[in-house]
Amino acid sequence: MGECLFCNIVARKIPATIVYETDKTLAFRDINPRAPVHVLVIPKEHLPSLMDVESRHAAVLADIHLAAQTVARQDKIDDKGFRLVVNVGKDSGQAVDHLHYHVLGGRKLGWPPG
Ligand code: 5GP
Ligand code: ZN
Repeated sequence: MGECLFCNIVARKIPATIVYETDKTLAFRDINPRAPVHVLVIPKEHLPSLMDVESRHAAVLADIHLAAQTVARQDKIDDKGFRLVVNVGKDSGQAVDHLHYHVLGGRKLGWPPG
């Protein structure tokens, strides 16, 4: 088993409730949901954070955004709306060093976040 939790989920070495997948992207339910719908969308390629993204990753970023659309439609939060969140670094509380996009919805979300 490798070091990175989300790489191990991609490799199916750690179980997760996968809700959508493409060749570049995996989407699975957050283990500690903060909203009725809380899905994480990640690149299959290990990138520690948004700050490691380069222009050559354009296709995977597009794929992640399209996967977020698909997840929102599947979980029927596309109509009422939802939030796509990327935590970056210490002040954001980023806890897993593999780039991930939170899809949060199914309830009214406060703004700004705490
Ligand atoms: P961050 O705070 O880094 O933006 O978000 C990390 C997220 O990963 C948290 O919402 C946390 O609940 C979720 N998470 C941590 N470990 C696991 C795990 O083993 N499986 C799943 N499905 N989610 C996890
Ligand atoms: Zn990783």
